[in-house]
Amino acid sequence: MMNQCFIQQPMTVKIMQFVTDVCSECYKNFEEGEESFYDTQSCRYLCKECADKICQEIIEQERERYLNENDEIEYSQPTLF
Ligand SMILES: [Zn+2]
Repeated sequence: MMNQCFIQQPMTVKIMQFVTDVCSECYKNFEEGEESFYDTQSCRYLCKECADKICQEIIEQERERYLNENDEIEYSQPTLF
């Protein structure tokens, strides 16, 4: 279930040189061409594993908030803005 939380893009040499070459969460080194996930809320790059994990947490939070507001079981649609 990817992915409403992050912008998925392959890691490029440019990003690695000018932005970052490690995941902001687990500090794993990116390799060129590897899928990376840009977190638009925290402005950081994440590897797939961390993006999956954090996305799941965001969705859970959104759903809880939604349930609190609406008191019925439905999935919310998290938006970037
Ligand atoms: Zn990571």
